[in-house]
Amino acid sequence: MMSGGNEKSVKALKEVWRRAENSLCADCGKPDPDWASSTLGVFICLSCSGIHRNIPSISKVKSLKMDHWDDAQVQFLAQHGNAVTNATYEAHIPIYYYQPTYNDCQVLREQWIRAKYERKEFTEPGKQLPYSDGVKEGILWKRGRDNGQFLPRKFLLSEREGSLKYFTKQDAKEPKVIIKIDVINATFQPVKIGNPNGLQITYLKDNKTRNIFVYHENGKEVVDWFNAIRSVQFHYLKVAFPIASDNELKSRLTRNFLKEGYMEKTGPKQKEAFKKRWFTLDHRRLMYFKDPLDAFAKGEVFVGSRENGYSVRKGLPSGTQGNFSWHYGLTIVTPDREYLFTCETETDQLDWIAAFTSVIDQPMIPQEYAIEAYFKVKS
Ligand SMILES: [Zn+2]
Repeated sequence: MMSGGNEKSVKALKEVWRRAENSLCADCGKPDPDWASSTLGVFICLSCSGIHRNIPSISKVKSLKMDHWDDAQVQFLAQHGNAVTNATYEAHIPIYYYQPTYNDCQVLREQWIRAKYERKEFTEPGKQLPYSDGVKEGILWKRGRDNGQFLPRKFLLSEREGSLKYFTKQDAKEPKVIIKIDVINATFQPVKIGNPNGLQITYLKDNKTRNIFVYHENGKEVVDWFNAIRSVQFHYLKVAFPIASDNELKSRLTRNFLKEGYMEKTGPKQKEAFKKRWFTLDHRRLMYFKDPLDAFAKGEVFVGSRENGYSVRKGLPSGTQGNFSWHYGLTIVTPDREYLFTCETETDQLDWIAAFTSVIDQPMIPQEYAIEAYFKVKS
């Protein structure tokens, strides 16, 4: 417990620590932080304290439980705290900038903390930032579709052209692919890609999802790319939907997948052998892949809303035959057919059901009816 220090300063420390403003980590929002920075005056969680420790010129971190805090330090915390310090360091965050939470990966959280305190990117309004120009050009290492090898590729993002392009040869004039900015999603996938800075970029082509996997060895560079894509998307949407609020537009920038993982599936006759596939639930699109790093989905299923005839059930229909090695079943009901899946564990089964339920419980927006119609034509 609190060692050293006189009783008075221990009591004073507890009082500051207990303030409502200090009840969440100043950087990632995790409840009950028990570390603090004696130089910045913020209360932070253990994992953010590890990032602060890597920036010793800016932040000195100490445990609130185990370390000794002298009177002057306690007074400093009392005069600062999360509200006052964030009012300075988070004063002018661009609306499109992705502010990570404790659920996000290390590279996003580290670059956020460095942007905030080390580079002071948000202390003044209208600061020129590497992701705020509406144009970005540079090299990203891209995974080859067929051999799985990562090779350097030139990428070019342009707000004026409303696109992200990449080139196979450094000096090539014609891009290999031109992706329209309004169909791009980007999400960090370090585990799946096998690189701490791994970014998955997905886009729609002919209404089908394509994946590309990239990384940059420099964490700042890859997070700058991510925020540059968000910035260009935001400005594109702003022109396309001039009456929408900024927060509404922000919610339509890049999104994280609701859930990913392996399940077994059978075919439409429900008698085919179950096959193990990698599934990604990207809002209303359930995609499945043979390999998690495949460029194309083998199939996609539209997941609509309850009032339009979609539901999810625990278990498989009684009497389901077929070969399945996993025993935690679930059934997705759509107006056209039932989809049968099995999960390896009960936890997985319940997590998938929760993810599907969260989508099915939301009413569909007009654009989603158009997507649903497209899926119906296709099948
Ligand atoms: Zn934190």
